[in-house]
Amino acid sequence: MVDLKEKIKRIAKEKGYVILAHNYQNKDIQDIADYLGDSLQLAKIATKIESDKILFLGVDFMAEAIKILNSNKKVIVPIKAATCPMANSLEPEMIIEAKEKYKAPFVIYVNSTASSKMYADYACTSANAVEIVKKIKSEIVLFGPDKNLAEFVAEKTGKKVIPIPGDTGYCYVHNYIRKEEVLSLKEKYPNAKVISHPEVSSEIQAISDYVGSTSQMEKFPNIDEGLEYIIVTEKDMVEKLKKIYPDRTFIPISSAVCNNMKKNTLKNILSALENEQFEVLVDEEIAKKAIVPIENMFKLMEE
Ligand code: SF4
Repeated sequence: MVDLKEKIKRIAKEKGYVILAHNYQNKDIQDIADYLGDSLQLAKIATKIESDKILFLGVDFMAEAIKILNSNKKVIVPIKAATCPMANSLEPEMIIEAKEKYKAPFVIYVNSTASSKMYADYACTSANAVEIVKKIKSEIVLFGPDKNLAEFVAEKTGKKVIPIPGDTGYCYVHNYIRKEEVLSLKEKYPNAKVISHPEVSSEIQAISDYVGSTSQMEKFPNIDEGLEYIIVTEKDMVEKLKKIYPDRTFIPISSAVCNNMKKNTLKNILSALENEQFEVLVDEEIAKKAIVPIENMFKLMEE
């Protein structure tokens, strides 16, 4: 295993690839990454690195976003089948129809395909969704695809947030975490703070001490005296937190596994580097339109 990780790092260096990996990759993959982060953090890092070759380890919509924001760079992924059912649940037609019906702006979660982003007005991440919706000058906002994040945003902003596609828009990893599992961990670790991702159901948000994105979770232990944290998101996020705060205890939800993220393996990563494939390509017309809501998000963030 150690040899394989060393071999991957050596070949990446020889061929000039920078390895970007999402926080939900397993520990071995986190170990070989040059940069680890959430999808937007990684897309931003990609714009700053000098290398024009990127090996991306996450799922397809994230790789697409990196390519859209870095059209001059070569982006490769180890397996094309690493996709996201939630991103795929929001189809372009649903956005067009909803906008027509409600005459309201559409805020699209970055966890969506480029073909859908083309029709949205603003993008958002789980870290800035509340701020973006607050700043939009409309009391009614269409929001997709995650219904749980939509509910969280509605509660925090007091605006009418209509989830599109509705009941079928959710991340199975977060949505199916059971309240009983969190409560039994709370019983086992009575002093632990419960930190949840806003993609979890509202009943889990209600029993959490803090709700925030993975990038916000990284900052949370700094502002609190707690030593133990129950981390209610994809289980491998704790691996990253352990690296940042080796003196704290992070307890994962063992049932929260994103099978799509886990399609990246050391074996197929090695093969991706040896063969310099699979290259991520986004149609130029789609990229030109899909970048608009992302740019609108950046503009709103600066206001
Ligand atoms: S954790 Fe959920 S939202 Fe993220 S890639 Fe997996 S299925 Fe999609």
